[in-house]
Amino acid sequence: MREVNLYRTFLMSMIFLKSFLGLWRDYQIFRRTMKEWLGDGGKPVATKVSQARADICLDCKFNVKNVMTESFGDAYRRHLAAKRRMKLEVVGETLLHTFKLCRCALILKIHVPFKHIRAYQREEIRQAIMKGKPACWQLKP
Ligand code: SF4
Repeated sequence: MREVNLYRTFLMSMIFLKSFLGLWRDYQIFRRTMKEWLGDGGKPVATKVSQARADICLDCKFNVKNVMTESFGDAYRRHLAAKRRMKLEVVGETLLHTFKLCRCALILKIHVPFKHIRAYQREEIRQAIMKGKPACWQLKP
């Protein structure tokens, strides 16, 4: 019985560690993408482009609330503050949450130029988007 409990604890720890490492990796990718964007003069895409992206995200099953992403993270808060300073706004943005597949903040990502997004996008994420949301703006050339 004791061995079963030890094995179960070990298994739970491994599952927790795996999801934590995944969360950490996605957070670092998001942070690097945003840093590069702001480091590149912070030039966002045109408002009509970010609005068109937002409209697609607002109708997507991968736009989900994620307390971890949206409440913790210094980079997230700083970039949100930068977005406010730059007066980047789209209609319906309060309903933009976390992109479930890579845990990035959609309220920020819709403003980021493609070259920065593509630089860090993992192939497995791209494949998952193609499968789950073929109309996604991230697949547009
Ligand atoms: S798959 Fe595309 S449309 Fe859907 S939430 Fe992600 S970025 Fe938005």
